[in-house]
Amino acid sequence: MDTAPILLVDDDLALLQALPRMLSLRMSGVEVQTADSAQAALTMIEQHEYDTIVSDIKMSGMDGLDLLAKVQEHHPETPVVLITGHGDHELAIQALRGGAYDYLLKPIDRDDFIAALSRALHTRQLRRQVEVQQRALERHALSLEQQVKKLTHELVTSNATNDAMLNMITQQLASPLMNLMDITRLFDVQLQRADGIEKVRQDLVKVERALRQMEKLHQDLQDTSLIRTNRLSLRCTSSNLVELCYSVVDEYLVSTDVVPTFEAFDDHLQAEVDPGRISQALLNLLSNAYKYSPEGAPITVTLQRSDREAIISVHDQGPGIAAEQLPYIWEQFYRVPGIEVQRGSPAGLGLGLYIARAIVEQHGGRLEVQSQAGNGSTFSMVLPLAAGRDLDTDQSQ
Ligand code: ADP
Repeated sequence: MDTAPILLVDDDLALLQALPRMLSLRMSGVEVQTADSAQAALTMIEQHEYDTIVSDIKMSGMDGLDLLAKVQEHHPETPVVLITGHGDHELAIQALRGGAYDYLLKPIDRDDFIAALSRALHTRQLRRQVEVQQRALERHALSLEQQVKKLTHELVTSNATNDAMLNMITQQLASPLMNLMDITRLFDVQLQRADGIEKVRQDLVKVERALRQMEKLHQDLQDTSLIRTNRLSLRCTSSNLVELCYSVVDEYLVSTDVVPTFEAFDDHLQAEVDPGRISQALLNLLSNAYKYSPEGAPITVTLQRSDREAIISVHDQGPGIAAEQLPYIWEQFYRVPGIEVQRGSPAGLGLGLYIARAIVEQHGGRLEVQSQAGNGSTFSMVLPLAAGRDLDTDQSQ
């Protein structure tokens, strides 16, 4: 255990020698230092921290009450016990009013001295514990304050994200809605003309396109909500990825005038996936390739196997993504969609890659991008063939 440092101040040298000796015989765990004047005591107090100071009041030069005032000013946590002459009650009261912890009357009774000193040391120890607890509380309060600041910031950011998202949705809905309204307004006029039916039939194709756009937006928003609330679930079945890619490419061919090429490096690649969700992710990559490529530029889908992974890639010969834009695209995969799109391309809501990434990661895979400005882009879905299972062994059984 640490010893408690005590400072004894008295200009009576006989007492200054006798008291430490008496203390060392009757009290353990204390280390007594002495000063023969209040001035000398002040110098020592500046250099060293004492657990209790015991001082005579009547001393030549600075007296014990002045010393008490200085200690109170600079070290209010240190208890001071003052010694007064026998019957000098007036001084004793002054000492207590000045903030002394206790007083002792001369001639000093040993038991009284030990008892007063023990109480003072105990009080010092309690004050120290309170100081430690206070500091811990302050630290706790500070960390709580920081946490509140962080959460408030997150809340503000998420509100900003929601605002940006709402703004984007409004913009995205505006165009197909306007189209629908214009066309339906024209129906009436067209139907009264001789060639009206044919014109209406052509316009109905536009109506269908606008409705599909809105349906896709609705689906993407629904999926985003599922992803953000961790409710995106998969219905995995053992699927042949070659067939799955063929059917997505065929579907794409029907809905657009683009003919993507499909190359499979294996005839048969079986994987445990949700075919609907993987098709959806592939369609998102395909529609980006189409959206960001010049008209008529070729788009290729490849499927290959690498160790225990299947890699479905979509290559385009569009403008690619500039190196400085790439980190931002990555950021977009991992951020809540909405805000970043405003900074980047005004083409869409920025949900396509976000949803594709979530679907692939839900399968235990990852979405990768390789791109160079002017040299097209390759977006790849890397999917585990079967999580934790050795496929070759399985197939050989
Ligand atoms: P959206 O196309 O709706 O903006 P996406 O999440 O699908 O949202 O794409 C995010 C961004 O990534 C796009 O705005 C575009 O800047 C970039 N991007 C995606 N795919 C391609 C691509 N094939 N070529 C060039 N840029 C692309």
